[in-house]
Amino acid sequence: MSTKVVVLGAGFGGLELVTRLDDVIPEQVEITLIDKSASFTFGFSKLDVMFGKRRLDEVRAPYRDITRPGIGYRQETILSIDPRTRQVVTDGGTYDTDILVVALGADYDVDATPGLAEGGYEFYSLGGAERSGSALAAFDGGAVIVSVLGPVFKCPGAPIETVLLVNDFLTSRGLRERSTIQLTSPLPMPIPISKATSAALQALLDAAGIECSFSTMVTRLDPKARTAHLNDGRALPYDLFLGIPVHCAPDVVRASEIAEDGWIPVDPATFETKFPGVFAVGDVTSAPVPRAGGMAEREAATVADVLIARLTGGAAPPPFDGAAACYVETGAESVARIDVNFLAYDVPVAKFNTPTAELVAEKHTWGTSRLTRWFGYDDADDRI
Ligand SMILES: Cc1cc2nc3c(=O)[nH]c(=O)nc-3n(C[C@H](O)[C@H](O)[C@H](O)COP(=O)(O)OP(=O)(O)OC[C@H]3O[C@@H](n4cnc5c(N)ncnc54)[C@H](O)[C@@H]3O)c2cc1C
Repeated sequence: MSTKVVVLGAGFGGLELVTRLDDVIPEQVEITLIDKSASFTFGFSKLDVMFGKRRLDEVRAPYRDITRPGIGYRQETILSIDPRTRQVVTDGGTYDTDILVVALGADYDVDATPGLAEGGYEFYSLGGAERSGSALAAFDGGAVIVSVLGPVFKCPGAPIETVLLVNDFLTSRGLRERSTIQLTSPLPMPIPISKATSAALQALLDAAGIECSFSTMVTRLDPKARTAHLNDGRALPYDLFLGIPVHCAPDVVRASEIAEDGWIPVDPATFETKFPGVFAVGDVTSAPVPRAGGMAEREAATVADVLIARLTGGAAPPPFDGAAACYVETGAESVARIDVNFLAYDVPVAKFNTPTAELVAEKHTWGTSRLTRWFGYDDADDRI
């Protein structure tokens, strides 16, 4: 009898988990992968869409392209999760599972920032990236504000990338001289775990003439007056406001007993929840690591190794070390890499690798290798 493994969410975490299980123990597991969406898109592709480098249809990988017979993909919306019985209800049926893995990512609460929907743009969803791209294309210069609107957000490097790419975009259109670019963030510095990495990124921001306000947060926009109000009492005028919206776990997770304080607590060594046989990986957890695709993927690999060991009677794998590589677009066709490790040492560490054109190629290969492994593409180069 094979073990029924049901994976909720086919993002970075879900795709890596099902691929690894199917690679290593296809005979022992019956894998079902459920996602409401028809396709996968890398988070970083949203910036490509926003800055007019790619169209949305060019960066979508349809799940129907997953042709592994061992992985059953269902396009369904999950309606409820009962972690005690490991039962899941979707708009397509009810699933009773032996092993349940929740990899449903983070959603956005745009209304948590009054005025954002009317007076600005979020660029973290696919639709938001497209709308922000249209606004940028129509922009004629002025004050641009890029703001992180909540303490928890995906991809710590993304706000830095965004302002540096706005700088490139305005420069290439001859609009930079009559524009200002301002970054606001609740974080105390670009990458709080490393002063040296933060200093290196700050030097890039300074060189691009980007004003930064750290340890502060925009709490509301006044769309009529076109001002952003901060929790330090300041009001900043803007012509274009680009926001990273407040993040939250999907409704179905928050409504389930599996969530505590809005997210799913896990054992950071194995990613098992307090409910036996129920795991959670990626942005939806409150694990003490950043929310990033590279991190979600490695968490999923850990869960796969834990399950492989349990189902084959092998030795338990080493605990998750919290290591990942994060690529950061720094503008002018360069990419930097930050190697982080959150759990292996007494304190989290980060090493900054200076921006180069070679790292552009490395990031590209990093992406295409995932598409090849997860979707079986032999033309992944054209799909990213
Ligand atoms: C602009 C931007 C740039 C980024 N750049 C990088 C980068 O360079 N490197 C990096 O490592 N990370 C980057 N990230 C972060 C990265 O995209 C996420 O951290 C990563 O996708 C998290 O993986 P996950 O598996 O936890 O969730 P996701 O990949 O978000 O997958 C969750 C899945 O669950 C599905 N789902 C949710 N609710 C339901 C439901 N009720 N029913 C059915 N399905 C549901 C969703 O459709 C989705 O497919 C970036 C993110 C953004 C927004």
